[in-house]
Amino acid sequence: MVKYYITTAIDYVNAAPHIGHAYEKILADVLARWKRINNYDVFFLTGTDENAQKNVQAAKETNITTKKFVDLNSKKFIDLCKKLNISNDYFIKTSEKRHFEFAQLIFKKIYDNGDIYKKKYSGLYCVGCEAFLTEKDLVDGKCPDHNKAPKLIEEENYFFKLSKYEKQILKLVSSSDFIIPEGWRNEIVNRIKNDGLKDISVSRPGVEWGIDVPIDKEHKIYVWIDALSNYISALDYPNGLKFKKYWPADAHIVGKGINWFHSVIWPALLLSAKIELPKHIWVHGYVTVDGKKISKSLGNSIDPISLVDKYSVDIVRYTLLKDIPFNQDGDFSEKSLKERNNNELANDLGNLVSRTLSLCEKFYSGKITKQKDDGLFKELDLVKINKYMDKYELHNALEEIWKFIRITNKYVNDKEPWKNAEDRELVLYNILEAIRIISILISPFIPETSDRINKQINVKIGTIKDIKFGLQKEYKVEKEGILFNKIE
Ligand SMILES: [Zn+2]
Repeated sequence: MVKYYITTAIDYVNAAPHIGHAYEKILADVLARWKRINNYDVFFLTGTDENAQKNVQAAKETNITTKKFVDLNSKKFIDLCKKLNISNDYFIKTSEKRHFEFAQLIFKKIYDNGDIYKKKYSGLYCVGCEAFLTEKDLVDGKCPDHNKAPKLIEEENYFFKLSKYEKQILKLVSSSDFIIPEGWRNEIVNRIKNDGLKDISVSRPGVEWGIDVPIDKEHKIYVWIDALSNYISALDYPNGLKFKKYWPADAHIVGKGINWFHSVIWPALLLSAKIELPKHIWVHGYVTVDGKKISKSLGNSIDPISLVDKYSVDIVRYTLLKDIPFNQDGDFSEKSLKERNNNELANDLGNLVSRTLSLCEKFYSGKITKQKDDGLFKELDLVKINKYMDKYELHNALEEIWKFIRITNKYVNDKEPWKNAEDRELVLYNILEAIRIISILISPFIPETSDRINKQINVKIGTIKDIKFGLQKEYKVEKEGILFNKIE
């Protein structure tokens, strides 16, 4: 079996999950599930970034320990994964003791390689960002994200020689498929060409929460080495069996806001630590809500958990995947969700399954034996679906699957098996085979629905290999409710 290691970014725990977090996890989940039905040995990682200094303050405000605070908030992301039917193989919390050891090991390796040095530094520090900003980042002298003037602070920090890797990184990101899609690749290439790479601070002095710098207990490891190394500490770098089997990552799925960290800083750290580089950084756009960017001040941060409770997990998954193309920003609205539910899910898919099973029960008590191929199956363009999936164009792959669902519906209408007794069993067998195959194809996207279909047509979960006509010798179907209710 060929291995496939896929990760999401790890989320900050200082705020509750919103629809953007849900979107990224669903994307990665579809890809992980798709690889699994294509017979890959998949390891799928997600988790939370728990070592930010903001957590200390937030915990104090609620009168609990910082550890308790990050555990409580991390649990919301764990719950989100369960709610969304995310098939991650592991959920890493960076406050785990073992992650501390790995992050320190990597820091030490980079230090031993001569790429970390201490220097006095003064700069404009934004507490909200927990980062130094440059004059260029400011709008009217303020951090645009926090609407606050940064403080000028001077301190001694450890720095990583990012500049040393400029040539290697530029070559890496210029290659055609390291950063995908192209638009976000160009952004990074141009930024390196224009601004070059400057050394970055990798420690924070005098803070209480986080991972000790292994060579100096007065400092904690700053976010880069701490957070990014989660991708290998989850595999028990360097001696763990998982590390040997799954590293390098095949795809880091990240939002466009952290493209730079994953495409530039992370590979440079790995080069210095002499660890193999990940194969692809897949960058996705942002989810807007009703045309507006998600923000606290607008109060438009939709809670994905209550959305799933209100509708269903698969309606939410389907709408996000369909409305936000992988290479662009996209808008989420409940209006679109309702339309997609009523048309594509309830009408196209739900109706197909429901009326087919009713006919099987009415005329054959649910028992249909194998019949010859009536030509419906050749309408399925699996090559095209594969091509879209390889390019991570999940919305196009879904559209192609739905084309086949609509063709199958048209076949039912044309053949009128409720009226024509003559070739009724032949027609119903052909439709059931189509439904079985559709169920395999939708399983990465809307897995719960796929399970419900399989249960009703009484087949086991299939893989891509099972997408051929005539595999099922006999069907014994049993209708069980309807897949999607219409929403007013
Ligand atoms: Zn800020």
